[in-house]
Amino acid sequence: MNFHEYQAKDIFADYGVAVPQGIAASNADEAVAAAEKMGGTQWMVKAQVQAGGRGKAGGIKLARTLEEVRDYTQKMIGMTITTYQTGGLALPVDKVLIAEATDIAKELYLSMLVDRQNKCVTIMASSEGGMDIEKVAHDTPEKIHTVQIDLTEGFQAYQGRKIGFGMGLNAKQTGQLTKMLESLYRMFYALDLALVEINPLVITPSGDLLALDAKINVDESALFRHPEIAAMRDERQEDPTEVEATRHNLNYVTLNGSIGCMVNGAGLAMATLDVIKLNGGEPANFLDVGGGATKERVTAAFKLILRSDKVRAILVNIFGGIVRCDLIADGIIAAVRDVGITIPVVVRLEGTNVEKGRELLANSGFAIIPATDLNDAARKVVAAAKG
Ligand code: GDP
Ligand code: MN
Repeated sequence: MNFHEYQAKDIFADYGVAVPQGIAASNADEAVAAAEKMGGTQWMVKAQVQAGGRGKAGGIKLARTLEEVRDYTQKMIGMTITTYQTGGLALPVDKVLIAEATDIAKELYLSMLVDRQNKCVTIMASSEGGMDIEKVAHDTPEKIHTVQIDLTEGFQAYQGRKIGFGMGLNAKQTGQLTKMLESLYRMFYALDLALVEINPLVITPSGDLLALDAKINVDESALFRHPEIAAMRDERQEDPTEVEATRHNLNYVTLNGSIGCMVNGAGLAMATLDVIKLNGGEPANFLDVGGGATKERVTAAFKLILRSDKVRAILVNIFGGIVRCDLIADGIIAAVRDVGITIPVVVRLEGTNVEKGRELLANSGFAIIPATDLNDAARKVVAAAKG
């Protein structure tokens, strides 16, 4: 789960990480009131969408008068923002953050993430902030500094010094950075985060560090431990199909291809995506219908898959270990009837009562294409999607 910048900055402030003053607003009146309350003569108006790259999309403006605060807010609220980070979605702007405008001497990059490969939390930092960090890593890898935090020892001050001096900070800034990293790690651990990213972390003209942007991602499996954080979820920033899937307890991820997939078990679902690609096809989604592939779940799953007009064919790949294949076949037939599917459906069934299941599908009266194994199924569905 992701957060808005204003939410992430509130959390930062709770943990003592320095952020510019800011107040979120849902309309122009609130925005002007926020600017008046904060005082000052210049304010940033920042569209709150859960993706970076807002500047180029017209979502970040410097307002020099209260009238400009009003004007920019009016323009931003109600618009949608699409950037290279929105995964093809147009994200609605429901709120803006009115923030104290900060003078910038230098922009840095700082992040902390769960590092699966090294089984630790890794800090990444760079003196090249404010831009696409993947590009920095690719073109000038020597400008990326990393340290690995040992999970039993926790963050150590020398690691902060290593990063700070590595980025060319002076002693005072390195001290501030070390304190900031201590706070960020405390937050990271306490809130079960997967990622914190500050881009840019800035050095102000007076030489102090300040988090100008804030991105947080929390491990959703741990949300039950943090109801106050779970309550910050903004479903309007998420893929509507994925939100709908969560309501049915289905594990669904939208992908870009044309072959809809319905599989029981996450591992089998991953394997199915691989075999489709091996056969020259592109999956439209990942979908694990779970152990109990009942008629209701299969129906809900078909409806989800068919929400995308990119889907040209569907592959159902079910391994009946605990559930019986004849029950699954019943579920598939009922769902095909209910949903009124008009595109080819390839079904590969394996496991308990498989003969009975295949017989039911063959006699269903629907043009369900049977497959004998996963490879056969992938070949048939790729051909069907192209046909
Ligand atoms: P993002 O592009 O969506 O990640 O939005 P950011 O919050 O990172 O802002 C983008 C850029 O706008 C930053 O890299 C800064 O250059 C600039 N910016 C944001 N806030 C301020 C501010 O308070 N003062 C100044 N001078 N520039 C800012
Ligand atoms: Mn940013």
